[in-house]
Amino acid sequence: MSAKADLAIRGAVVISDGAYARDILIRDGRISALVEAGASAANREIDARGLLALPGMVDAHVHFNEPGRTDWEGWANGTRAAAAGGTTTVLDMPLNSVPPVLDGASFDVKKAAAEKASIVDFGLWGGLVDADPASLRELSERGAVGVKAFLCDSGVAEFPALHEEDLVPALRAAAGAGLVVALHCEDDALVREATARVRGEGTHDAAAWPLSRPPLVEIRAVAGACAAAREAGARIHIVHLSAMEALGAVGAARDMGTDVSVETCPHYLTFDESDLTRQGASLKCAPPIRDRRNRDGLWRALLDGKIDFVASDHSPCPPDLKASADMFAAWGGVAGAQSLLPAVFTGASARAGDALDVRKVAGFVVWRLAARPAKRFGLWPRKGAIAPGSDADVVLFDPDREWTLDAEASRTRGVDPYIGRSFRGKVVRTLVGGRTVYNERETVPNPARGRFIPRGEVAEG
Ligand SMILES: [Zn+2]
Repeated sequence: MSAKADLAIRGAVVISDGAYARDILIRDGRISALVEAGASAANREIDARGLLALPGMVDAHVHFNEPGRTDWEGWANGTRAAAAGGTTTVLDMPLNSVPPVLDGASFDVKKAAAEKASIVDFGLWGGLVDADPASLRELSERGAVGVKAFLCDSGVAEFPALHEEDLVPALRAAAGAGLVVALHCEDDALVREATARVRGEGTHDAAAWPLSRPPLVEIRAVAGACAAAREAGARIHIVHLSAMEALGAVGAARDMGTDVSVETCPHYLTFDESDLTRQGASLKCAPPIRDRRNRDGLWRALLDGKIDFVASDHSPCPPDLKASADMFAAWGGVAGAQSLLPAVFTGASARAGDALDVRKVAGFVVWRLAARPAKRFGLWPRKGAIAPGSDADVVLFDPDREWTLDAEASRTRGVDPYIGRSFRGKVVRTLVGGRTVYNERETVPNPARGRFIPRGEVAEG
Protein backbone atom coordinates (compact mmCIF):
# COMPACT_ATOMS: atom_id res chain seq x y z
CA MET A 1 0.00 0.00 0.00
CA SER A 2 1.33 3.44 -0.88
CA ALA A 3 1.98 6.16 1.71
CA LYS A 4 -0.81 8.03 3.46
CA ALA A 5 -2.62 10.62 1.34
CA ASP A 6 -2.12 14.33 1.98
CA LEU A 7 -5.80 15.02 1.50
CA ALA A 8 -9.06 13.10 1.11
CA ILE A 9 -12.20 14.61 -0.41
CA ARG A 10 -14.97 12.54 1.09
CA GLY A 11 -18.59 11.97 0.23
CA ALA A 12 -18.94 13.61 -3.20
CA VAL A 13 -20.31 12.04 -6.35
CA VAL A 14 -17.42 12.07 -8.82
CA ILE A 15 -18.38 13.19 -12.33
CA SER A 16 -15.70 12.06 -14.74
CA ASP A 17 -16.41 9.44 -17.36
CA GLY A 18 -19.56 8.45 -15.49
CA ALA A 19 -20.94 9.31 -12.06
CA TYR A 20 -19.99 7.34 -8.95
CA ALA A 21 -19.67 7.87 -5.22
CA ARG A 22 -15.97 7.73 -4.36
CA ASP A 23 -13.58 9.43 -1.99
CA ILE A 24 -10.75 11.19 -3.80
CA LEU A 25 -7.27 10.70 -2.35
CA ILE A 26 -4.62 13.28 -3.20
CA ARG A 27 -0.88 13.04 -2.82
CA ASP A 28 1.82 15.42 -4.04
CA GLY A 29 -0.70 17.45 -6.01
CA ARG A 30 -2.08 14.50 -7.92
CA ILE A 31 -4.97 12.15 -7.51
CA SER A 32 -3.50 8.99 -6.02
CA ALA A 33 -6.65 6.87 -5.81
CA LEU A 34 -10.44 6.82 -5.87
CA VAL A 35 -11.69 4.67 -3.00
CA GLU A 36 -14.89 3.46 -1.34
CA ALA A 37 -16.44 5.89 1.13
CA GLY A 38 -14.35 6.25 4.28
CA ALA A 39 -11.58 3.93 3.11
CA SER A 40 -7.90 4.78 3.58
CA ALA A 41 -6.49 7.44 5.88
CA ALA A 42 -5.35 10.94 4.98
CA ASN A 43 -3.63 13.79 6.80
CA ARG A 44 -6.48 16.19 6.04
CA GLU A 45 -10.05 15.78 4.89
CA ILE A 46 -12.68 17.80 3.11
CA ASP A 47 -16.31 16.91 3.76
CA ALA A 48 -18.02 17.09 0.37
CA ARG A 49 -21.22 15.23 1.13
CA GLY A 50 -24.12 16.38 -1.02
CA LEU A 51 -21.82 17.85 -3.67
CA LEU A 52 -20.56 16.78 -7.06
CA ALA A 53 -16.79 16.58 -7.64
CA LEU A 54 -15.93 17.72 -11.16
CA PRO A 55 -12.53 17.92 -12.81
CA GLY A 56 -11.54 21.59 -13.05
CA MET A 57 -12.70 23.34 -16.19
CA VAL A 58 -10.14 24.03 -18.95
CA ASP A 59 -10.93 27.47 -20.35
CA ALA A 60 -9.19 27.42 -23.74
CA HIS A 61 -9.64 31.12 -24.50
CA VAL A 62 -8.89 34.00 -22.11
CA HIS A 63 -7.20 37.37 -22.42
CA PHE A 64 -5.23 38.15 -19.27
CA ASN A 65 -3.39 41.12 -20.68
CA GLU A 66 -0.37 41.18 -18.40
CA PRO A 67 2.19 42.53 -19.05
CA GLY A 68 1.14 45.70 -20.80
CA ARG A 69 -2.60 46.06 -20.14
CA THR A 70 -2.88 44.69 -16.61
CA ASP A 71 -5.39 47.42 -15.80
CA TRP A 72 -7.70 45.76 -18.37
CA GLU A 73 -7.25 42.33 -16.79
CA GLY A 74 -4.22 40.70 -15.24
CA TRP A 75 -3.14 37.27 -14.03
CA ALA A 76 -3.90 37.70 -10.33
CA ASN A 77 -7.36 39.15 -10.79
CA GLY A 78 -8.33 37.17 -13.89
CA THR A 79 -7.40 33.81 -12.40
CA ARG A 80 -9.25 34.68 -9.18
CA ALA A 81 -12.37 35.11 -11.30
CA ALA A 82 -11.63 31.85 -13.14
CA ALA A 83 -11.13 29.91 -9.89
CA ALA A 84 -14.40 31.25 -8.47
CA GLY A 85 -16.08 29.82 -11.57
CA GLY A 86 -14.49 26.38 -11.29
CA THR A 87 -11.77 26.83 -13.90
CA THR A 88 -8.41 25.35 -12.96
CA THR A 89 -6.52 25.69 -16.26
CA VAL A 90 -6.63 28.68 -18.60
CA LEU A 91 -5.14 28.93 -22.07
CA ASP A 92 -4.20 32.56 -22.58
CA MET A 93 -4.31 34.35 -25.92
CA PRO A 94 -1.22 36.15 -27.33
CA LEU A 95 -2.97 39.55 -27.41
CA ASN A 96 -3.82 42.11 -25.82
CA SER A 97 -0.75 41.95 -23.64
CA VAL A 98 2.26 44.04 -24.61
CA PRO A 99 4.37 42.74 -26.15
CA PRO A 100 2.06 40.31 -27.94
CA VAL A 101 3.38 36.73 -27.82
CA LEU A 102 4.86 36.31 -31.28
CA ASP A 103 8.21 34.58 -30.63
CA GLY A 104 10.28 32.89 -27.96
CA ALA A 105 11.35 36.06 -26.16
CA SER A 106 7.83 37.48 -25.82
CA PHE A 107 6.56 34.03 -24.81
CA ASP A 108 9.10 33.99 -21.95
CA VAL A 109 7.96 37.45 -20.80
CA LYS A 110 4.30 36.37 -20.63
CA LYS A 111 5.16 33.09 -18.93
CA ALA A 112 7.19 34.85 -16.23
CA ALA A 113 4.34 37.29 -15.54
CA ALA A 114 1.86 34.43 -15.23
CA GLU A 115 4.09 32.32 -12.99
CA LYS A 116 4.33 35.21 -10.55
CA ALA A 117 0.62 35.90 -10.22
CA SER A 118 -1.61 33.11 -11.56
CA ILE A 119 -3.58 31.10 -9.01
CA VAL A 120 -4.59 28.43 -11.55
CA ASP A 121 -2.51 26.44 -14.03
CA PHE A 122 -2.05 27.91 -17.47
CA GLY A 123 -1.00 27.28 -21.04
CA LEU A 124 -0.08 29.96 -23.56
CA TRP A 125 -1.12 30.57 -27.15
CA GLY A 126 1.35 32.24 -29.49
CA GLY A 127 0.46 34.56 -32.34
CA LEU A 128 0.52 33.89 -36.08
CA VAL A 129 0.91 37.16 -37.97
CA ASP A 130 3.16 35.93 -40.80
CA ALA A 131 4.78 32.68 -41.93
CA ASP A 132 8.11 33.11 -40.10
CA PRO A 133 9.34 29.55 -39.39
CA ALA A 134 11.94 30.62 -36.79
CA SER A 135 9.37 32.30 -34.51
CA LEU A 136 6.99 29.36 -34.90
CA ARG A 137 9.74 26.92 -33.99
CA GLU A 138 10.55 28.94 -30.86
CA LEU A 139 6.91 28.94 -29.81
CA SER A 140 6.55 25.23 -30.50
CA GLU A 141 9.71 24.33 -28.56
CA ARG A 142 8.47 26.27 -25.55
CA GLY A 143 5.25 24.28 -25.45
CA ALA A 144 2.79 26.85 -26.83
CA VAL A 145 -0.67 25.31 -27.04
CA GLY A 146 -0.97 26.59 -30.62
CA VAL A 147 -0.97 29.89 -32.52
CA LYS A 148 -3.76 32.40 -33.07
CA ALA A 149 -4.46 34.40 -36.23
CA PHE A 150 -7.02 37.02 -37.22
CA LEU A 151 -8.71 37.14 -40.60
CA CYS A 152 -9.93 40.69 -39.82
CA ASP A 153 -8.74 43.64 -37.72
CA SER A 154 -7.78 42.39 -34.23
CA GLY A 155 -8.67 45.62 -32.43
CA VAL A 156 -5.07 46.30 -31.37
CA ALA A 157 -2.43 47.74 -33.66
CA GLU A 158 0.41 45.51 -32.48
CA PHE A 159 -1.35 42.32 -33.63
CA PRO A 160 -1.96 42.56 -37.40
CA ALA A 161 -4.42 40.39 -39.31
CA LEU A 162 -3.34 37.83 -41.88
CA HIS A 163 -4.12 38.96 -45.42
CA GLU A 164 -6.16 36.49 -47.44
CA GLU A 165 -3.24 35.65 -49.74
CA ASP A 166 -0.99 34.96 -46.72
CA LEU A 167 -3.34 32.50 -45.03
CA VAL A 168 -2.27 29.26 -46.72
CA PRO A 169 1.49 29.93 -46.37
CA ALA A 170 1.01 30.85 -42.69
CA LEU A 171 -1.07 27.72 -42.03
CA ARG A 172 1.57 25.62 -43.79
CA ALA A 173 4.31 27.12 -41.62
CA ALA A 174 2.32 26.50 -38.43
CA ALA A 175 1.63 22.91 -39.48
CA GLY A 176 5.35 22.50 -40.13
CA ALA A 177 6.03 23.57 -36.54
CA GLY A 178 3.42 21.10 -35.26
CA LEU A 179 1.07 23.84 -34.05
CA VAL A 180 -2.73 23.96 -34.25
CA VAL A 181 -3.98 27.34 -35.50
CA ALA A 182 -6.80 29.18 -33.73
CA LEU A 183 -8.61 31.40 -36.19
CA HIS A 184 -10.78 34.46 -35.60
CA CYS A 185 -13.10 34.02 -38.57
CA GLU A 186 -14.70 37.21 -39.84
CA ASP A 187 -14.23 38.25 -43.46
CA ASP A 188 -12.40 41.58 -43.45
CA ALA A 189 -13.85 42.96 -46.70
CA LEU A 190 -17.41 42.06 -45.73
CA VAL A 191 -17.00 43.63 -42.28
CA ARG A 192 -15.77 46.86 -43.86
CA GLU A 193 -18.60 46.94 -46.38
CA ALA A 194 -21.35 46.27 -43.84
CA THR A 195 -19.85 48.67 -41.28
CA ALA A 196 -19.65 51.50 -43.83
CA ARG A 197 -23.26 50.87 -44.85
CA VAL A 198 -24.63 50.79 -41.28
CA ARG A 199 -22.63 53.81 -40.18
CA GLY A 200 -23.62 55.62 -43.37
CA GLU A 201 -27.22 55.32 -42.22
CA GLY A 202 -26.21 57.27 -39.13
CA THR A 203 -26.88 54.47 -36.64
CA HIS A 204 -24.37 53.63 -33.96
CA ASP A 205 -26.48 52.17 -31.13
CA ALA A 206 -26.34 48.63 -29.78
CA ALA A 207 -28.77 47.31 -32.38
CA ALA A 208 -26.49 48.55 -35.17
CA TRP A 209 -23.56 46.43 -34.04
CA PRO A 210 -24.82 43.00 -35.22
CA LEU A 211 -26.02 44.56 -38.47
CA SER A 212 -22.44 45.63 -39.17
CA ARG A 213 -21.22 42.03 -38.83
CA PRO A 214 -23.99 39.83 -40.25
CA PRO A 215 -23.77 36.00 -40.30
CA LEU A 216 -22.42 36.11 -43.87
CA VAL A 217 -19.20 37.62 -42.48
CA GLU A 218 -18.58 34.49 -40.42
CA ILE A 219 -19.99 32.00 -42.91
CA ARG A 220 -17.59 33.12 -45.60
CA ALA A 221 -14.54 33.33 -43.30
CA VAL A 222 -15.15 29.89 -41.75
CA ALA A 223 -15.61 28.30 -45.18
CA GLY A 224 -12.40 29.96 -46.41
CA ALA A 225 -10.48 28.88 -43.32
CA CYS A 226 -11.60 25.26 -43.67
CA ALA A 227 -10.61 25.18 -47.35
CA ALA A 228 -7.25 26.81 -46.58
CA ALA A 229 -6.57 24.30 -43.79
CA ARG A 230 -7.21 21.43 -46.20
CA GLU A 231 -4.93 23.01 -48.78
CA ALA A 232 -2.15 23.59 -46.21
CA GLY A 233 -2.56 20.28 -44.34
CA ALA A 234 -3.05 22.28 -41.14
CA ARG A 235 -5.05 21.62 -37.98
CA ILE A 236 -7.31 24.53 -37.14
CA HIS A 237 -9.54 25.63 -34.30
CA ILE A 238 -12.38 28.08 -34.97
CA VAL A 239 -12.61 30.39 -31.94
CA HIS A 240 -15.82 31.98 -30.62
CA LEU A 241 -18.22 30.79 -33.31
CA SER A 242 -21.36 32.91 -33.16
CA ALA A 243 -23.27 32.31 -36.43
CA MET A 244 -24.62 28.76 -36.33
CA GLU A 245 -24.96 28.67 -40.13
CA ALA A 246 -21.14 28.78 -40.40
CA LEU A 247 -21.10 25.20 -39.07
CA GLY A 248 -22.14 23.90 -42.48
CA ALA A 249 -18.64 24.38 -43.87
CA VAL A 250 -17.11 22.79 -40.78
CA GLY A 251 -19.17 19.63 -41.23
CA ALA A 252 -18.19 19.40 -44.88
CA ALA A 253 -14.51 19.92 -44.05
CA ARG A 254 -14.61 17.20 -41.40
CA ASP A 255 -16.20 14.84 -43.88
CA MET A 256 -13.21 15.46 -46.12
CA GLY A 257 -10.80 14.62 -43.30
CA THR A 258 -9.75 18.14 -42.32
CA ASP A 259 -8.86 18.46 -38.64
CA VAL A 260 -11.04 21.33 -37.44
CA SER A 261 -12.47 22.00 -34.00
CA VAL A 262 -14.96 24.67 -32.99
CA GLU A 263 -15.60 26.59 -29.82
CA THR A 264 -18.45 28.89 -28.85
CA CYS A 265 -18.73 31.14 -25.80
CA PRO A 266 -21.07 31.37 -22.82
CA HIS A 267 -22.28 34.83 -23.90
CA TYR A 268 -23.55 33.47 -27.24
CA LEU A 269 -25.39 30.71 -25.35
CA THR A 270 -26.79 32.98 -22.64
CA PHE A 271 -27.71 36.27 -24.27
CA ASP A 272 -29.47 37.35 -27.45
CA GLU A 273 -29.97 40.60 -29.35
CA SER A 274 -32.59 41.84 -26.92
CA ASP A 275 -30.04 41.63 -24.08
CA LEU A 276 -27.46 43.40 -26.25
CA THR A 277 -29.93 46.23 -26.93
CA ARG A 278 -30.76 46.50 -23.23
CA GLN A 279 -27.26 46.10 -21.75
CA GLY A 280 -25.31 47.85 -24.50
CA ALA A 281 -21.52 47.81 -24.72
CA SER A 282 -20.97 45.33 -21.86
CA LEU A 283 -22.10 42.72 -24.41
CA LYS A 284 -20.22 44.14 -27.39
CA CYS A 285 -17.95 41.54 -28.93
CA ALA A 286 -16.94 40.34 -32.38
CA PRO A 287 -18.52 38.34 -33.85
CA PRO A 288 -21.64 39.80 -32.26
CA ILE A 289 -24.34 38.27 -30.09
CA ARG A 290 -27.17 37.33 -32.48
CA ASP A 291 -30.87 36.56 -32.33
CA ARG A 292 -32.64 33.97 -30.23
CA ARG A 293 -33.07 31.52 -33.07
CA ASN A 294 -29.33 31.54 -33.62
CA ARG A 295 -28.68 31.08 -29.89
CA ASP A 296 -30.98 28.04 -29.83
CA GLY A 297 -29.16 26.69 -32.89
CA LEU A 298 -25.82 27.00 -31.09
CA TRP A 299 -27.24 25.03 -28.17
CA ARG A 300 -28.42 22.26 -30.48
CA ALA A 301 -25.00 22.15 -32.16
CA LEU A 302 -23.26 21.98 -28.78
CA LEU A 303 -25.55 19.25 -27.50
CA ASP A 304 -25.05 17.10 -30.60
CA GLY A 305 -21.29 17.65 -30.76
CA LYS A 306 -20.99 19.82 -33.87
CA ILE A 307 -19.46 22.40 -31.55
CA ASP A 308 -16.58 20.84 -29.62
CA PHE A 309 -16.46 22.97 -26.49
CA VAL A 310 -17.22 26.26 -24.80
CA ALA A 311 -14.56 28.79 -23.75
CA SER A 312 -15.08 32.17 -22.11
CA ASP A 313 -13.11 34.51 -24.42
CA HIS A 314 -12.82 36.58 -21.24
CA SER A 315 -11.71 40.01 -22.44
CA PRO A 316 -12.58 42.92 -20.15
CA CYS A 317 -11.34 46.49 -20.37
CA PRO A 318 -11.45 49.59 -18.15
CA PRO A 319 -15.09 50.71 -17.71
CA ASP A 320 -14.52 54.03 -19.54
CA LEU A 321 -13.69 52.10 -22.74
CA LYS A 322 -17.21 50.63 -22.54
CA ALA A 323 -18.88 53.93 -21.63
CA SER A 324 -19.40 55.39 -25.11
CA ALA A 325 -22.93 55.61 -26.50
CA ASP A 326 -21.35 54.91 -29.90
CA MET A 327 -21.12 51.11 -30.08
CA PHE A 328 -18.49 51.37 -32.76
CA ALA A 329 -16.21 53.35 -30.41
CA ALA A 330 -16.63 51.04 -27.38
CA TRP A 331 -14.11 48.25 -26.75
CA GLY A 332 -15.28 44.86 -28.00
CA GLY A 333 -14.81 42.11 -25.45
CA VAL A 334 -16.95 40.36 -22.83
CA ALA A 335 -15.97 39.37 -19.30
CA GLY A 336 -16.95 35.75 -18.69
CA ALA A 337 -14.19 33.72 -17.00
CA GLN A 338 -16.18 33.46 -13.77
CA SER A 339 -19.50 32.61 -15.41
CA LEU A 340 -18.40 29.96 -17.94
CA LEU A 341 -19.37 26.89 -15.91
CA PRO A 342 -22.43 28.42 -14.18
CA ALA A 343 -23.83 29.74 -17.48
CA VAL A 344 -23.41 26.48 -19.39
CA PHE A 345 -24.71 24.35 -16.51
CA THR A 346 -27.71 26.64 -16.14
CA GLY A 347 -28.51 26.64 -19.85
CA ALA A 348 -28.08 22.89 -20.21
CA SER A 349 -30.27 22.26 -17.15
CA ALA A 350 -33.02 24.48 -18.54
CA ARG A 351 -32.88 22.63 -21.86
CA ALA A 352 -33.28 19.28 -20.12
CA GLY A 353 -36.75 20.39 -18.99
CA ASP A 354 -38.74 17.90 -16.96
CA ALA A 355 -36.19 15.19 -17.71
CA LEU A 356 -33.49 17.07 -15.78
CA ASP A 357 -30.88 14.78 -14.25
CA VAL A 358 -28.21 17.02 -12.71
CA ARG A 359 -25.54 14.31 -12.84
CA LYS A 360 -26.14 13.89 -16.54
CA VAL A 361 -25.95 17.65 -17.11
CA ALA A 362 -22.76 17.77 -15.04
CA GLY A 363 -21.32 14.98 -17.18
CA PHE A 364 -22.12 16.96 -20.31
CA VAL A 365 -20.53 20.09 -18.87
CA VAL A 366 -17.39 18.20 -17.82
CA TRP A 367 -17.05 16.75 -21.31
CA ARG A 368 -17.58 20.06 -23.10
CA LEU A 369 -15.69 22.38 -20.72
CA ALA A 370 -12.92 20.18 -19.34
CA ALA A 371 -12.21 16.83 -21.02
CA ARG A 372 -12.76 17.88 -24.64
CA PRO A 373 -10.59 21.05 -24.57
CA ALA A 374 -7.91 19.16 -22.60
CA LYS A 375 -7.88 16.44 -25.25
CA ARG A 376 -7.77 18.88 -28.14
CA PHE A 377 -4.68 20.59 -26.78
CA GLY A 378 -2.76 17.56 -25.51
CA LEU A 379 -3.40 18.21 -21.82
CA TRP A 380 -5.56 15.13 -21.12
CA PRO A 381 -5.57 13.09 -18.84
CA ARG A 382 -3.33 15.34 -16.73
CA LYS A 383 -6.16 17.88 -17.03
CA GLY A 384 -9.88 17.31 -17.60
CA ALA A 385 -10.23 14.09 -15.61
CA ILE A 386 -10.60 12.83 -12.06
CA ALA A 387 -8.53 9.68 -12.24
CA PRO A 388 -5.43 8.26 -10.58
CA GLY A 389 -2.40 10.15 -11.95
CA SER A 390 -4.34 13.25 -13.00
CA ASP A 391 -3.55 16.60 -11.41
CA ALA A 392 -5.73 17.12 -8.35
CA ASP A 393 -7.79 19.88 -9.99
CA VAL A 394 -11.20 19.40 -8.43
CA VAL A 395 -14.33 21.53 -8.30
CA LEU A 396 -16.87 20.88 -5.57
CA PHE A 397 -20.19 21.85 -7.09
CA ASP A 398 -23.71 22.13 -5.73
CA PRO A 399 -25.94 21.35 -8.74
CA ASP A 400 -29.21 22.31 -7.05
CA ARG A 401 -28.33 25.72 -5.65
CA GLU A 402 -30.05 28.66 -7.32
CA TRP A 403 -28.32 31.99 -6.94
CA THR A 404 -27.84 35.39 -8.54
CA LEU A 405 -24.46 36.97 -9.31
CA ASP A 406 -24.18 40.36 -7.61
CA ALA A 407 -21.54 43.05 -7.97
CA GLU A 408 -19.84 42.03 -4.76
CA ALA A 409 -19.37 38.42 -5.84
CA SER A 410 -18.16 39.35 -9.34
CA ARG A 411 -14.38 39.14 -9.38
CA THR A 412 -13.80 40.31 -12.91
CA ARG A 413 -12.24 43.60 -13.81
CA GLY A 414 -14.21 46.02 -15.92
CA VAL A 415 -17.90 45.51 -16.62
CA ASP A 416 -19.41 42.09 -15.85
CA PRO A 417 -22.50 41.55 -18.04
CA TYR A 418 -23.56 38.57 -15.91
CA ILE A 419 -24.28 40.70 -12.82
CA GLY A 420 -27.97 40.25 -12.05
CA ARG A 421 -28.19 36.89 -13.89
CA SER A 422 -29.61 33.95 -12.00
CA PHE A 423 -27.87 30.61 -12.20
CA ARG A 424 -28.52 27.01 -11.28
CA GLY A 425 -25.46 25.26 -9.81
CA LYS A 426 -22.82 26.89 -7.66
CA VAL A 427 -19.09 26.35 -7.29
CA VAL A 428 -18.46 25.78 -3.60
CA ARG A 429 -14.72 25.14 -3.64
CA THR A 430 -11.96 24.87 -6.25
CA LEU A 431 -8.67 23.02 -5.85
CA VAL A 432 -5.67 23.20 -8.18
CA GLY A 433 -2.99 20.57 -7.67
CA GLY A 434 -4.63 19.63 -4.38
CA ARG A 435 -4.48 23.21 -3.02
CA THR A 436 -7.63 25.22 -2.40
CA VAL A 437 -7.66 28.37 -4.54
CA TYR A 438 -11.30 29.29 -4.00
CA ASN A 439 -13.65 28.60 -1.11
CA GLU A 440 -17.00 30.34 -1.00
CA ARG A 441 -17.00 30.23 2.76
CA GLU A 442 -13.62 31.89 3.39
CA THR A 443 -10.93 33.95 1.73
CA VAL A 444 -7.99 31.85 0.66
CA PRO A 445 -4.62 33.44 1.54
CA ASN A 446 -2.27 34.10 -1.38
CA PRO A 447 -2.73 30.96 -3.46
CA ALA A 448 -0.58 32.20 -6.42
CA ARG A 449 1.31 29.07 -7.44
CA GLY A 450 -0.14 28.39 -10.88
CA ARG A 451 2.09 26.30 -13.10
CA PHE A 452 2.81 26.50 -16.80
CA ILE A 453 1.41 23.44 -18.59
CA PRO A 454 3.12 22.81 -21.90
CA ARG A 455 1.19 21.36 -24.83
CA GLY A 456 1.26 17.62 -25.07
CA GLU A 457 2.49 16.75 -21.62
CA VAL A 458 0.66 13.81 -20.07
CA ALA A 459 0.59 12.44 -16.54
CA GLU A 460 2.91 9.58 -15.77
CA GLY A 461 1.51 6.46 -14.14
ZN1 LIG B 1 -10.49 36.30 -27.84
